[in-house]
Amino acid sequence: MFLSDTIAAISTGMNNAGIGIVRISGDSSFKIAEKIFFKKNGEAFTSFESHRVYYGFIKDKEEIIDEVLLIPLKSPRSFTREDTIEINCHGGNIVMRRILKLVVEKGARLAEPGEFTKRAFLNGRIDLSEAEAVIDIINSKNELALNNSVKQLTGVINEKIRDIRGTLKYEIAYIESALDDPEHYDLEGYYERLIPILENILDDLNNMKRSYRDGRIITEGINTVIIGKPNVGKSSLLNILTGEETAIVTEIAGTTRDVIEQNVIIGDLTLRISDTAGVRDTDDMIEKLGVEKTYRYADNADLLIMMIDSSKELDDEDIRLFEYIKDKKALILLNKSDLKTITSKSEVSKYTNKKILIVSARDKTGISELKDCLEEMFIKGLIEYNDDILITNERHFDLIEKSLISINEALENINMDMPEDMISIDMVNTYESLGAIIGESLEDDIVDEIFSKFCMGK
Ligand code: GDP
Repeated sequence: MFLSDTIAAISTGMNNAGIGIVRISGDSSFKIAEKIFFKKNGEAFTSFESHRVYYGFIKDKEEIIDEVLLIPLKSPRSFTREDTIEINCHGGNIVMRRILKLVVEKGARLAEPGEFTKRAFLNGRIDLSEAEAVIDIINSKNELALNNSVKQLTGVINEKIRDIRGTLKYEIAYIESALDDPEHYDLEGYYERLIPILENILDDLNNMKRSYRDGRIITEGINTVIIGKPNVGKSSLLNILTGEETAIVTEIAGTTRDVIEQNVIIGDLTLRISDTAGVRDTDDMIEKLGVEKTYRYADNADLLIMMIDSSKELDDEDIRLFEYIKDKKALILLNKSDLKTITSKSEVSKYTNKKILIVSARDKTGISELKDCLEEMFIKGLIEYNDDILITNERHFDLIEKSLISINEALENINMDMPEDMISIDMVNTYESLGAIIGESLEDDIVDEIFSKFCMGK
């Protein structure tokens, strides 16, 4: 790959250190040096030998800016494999900036973050993994996200996104053509054809979005909330899962008013369990707050564990909770199996199609089944996603969300019988958001993604 322009940056930190380095890389770097670097007697240097240290002065016309050491590195024996000049100047911010400004005036352009390393990579000086290693060192905070994005950009996600974009492009082009040339392209009945196409895209994007959640489960744990009426055994369950006496377990209904969060490790999974106040109608203010909090937590949970006391009849509260968990990832524990059964599994399954497990928090029975069930629900899900598409990069996730919004808008606008050009705008928006995930060309995007993680001048 041939990069013709010459870049420059301050390669050392922008703190007032003793020495600072301004680095220039590219075809014109030697020429630029000749224009600004002079011997003590004011003479210009006419040529430079590679890998030698030259002593002299940086001058802007007649004004001396700094006394420096200059090191010319001839291509390909430099970090970027291009002609490179390193100016070792004094490390003051103002001095370094003035030299950089001068270098830019003489024909270089300011380097983008990471661009020196990018060139080293593009010119075959280092391979991608080495470039990544450099990044990891410079920017170790982002290591995980970075690794993921590299992995994903080479993977199935591109294909899928390209697919969707191809479909969108076709439909956008169709609308545009039809509007331009109504004689040849007919929009009569077009929406009926378009709706299922957009709904398909919506499904695909929703799957990707969901996969983000599951992807994070590996690193952050499953955000779990135990819900159920007071006294069904929520705190007791938490206690046996954590193996500690952390929650207050009492026989008075409604004592667990606040939220306790505990981490429970099950095989490869971590449950982050919030044990909240019981869910029920209440007039007690403090308790009411607890109940509201429960719903707030439950609304955002990855997993709901709903508990029922099998020694009691189901009542309206339970029914309401079945309704509440209907569209959520949830399972049901029929607790207190050591007592006489009033509510059976088959009774419960009349109201819900969620998995039902029979347990006794008191006797600690059914707990290993619970663990198996959780592994089934999450690990299996993860493996499925791994073969398919797993979004773990936050930038990708944001873009998927953005795409979802515009696709939804397209569908809503169709519903309101808006004109085709409006729909086309929504589709263009989706097209662009998705494009930002993969970039115009895969290679460029990997490179830009990686190198934009650098700090300036590295
Ligand atoms: P929570 O209000 O839902 O958190 O319920 P608790 O965990 O505080 O339990 C309420 C009462 O039920 C306590 O007296 C527990 O000892 C009792 N309990 C919990 N689980 C079981 C169980 O499996 N069997 C029996 N017999 N009692 C239980």
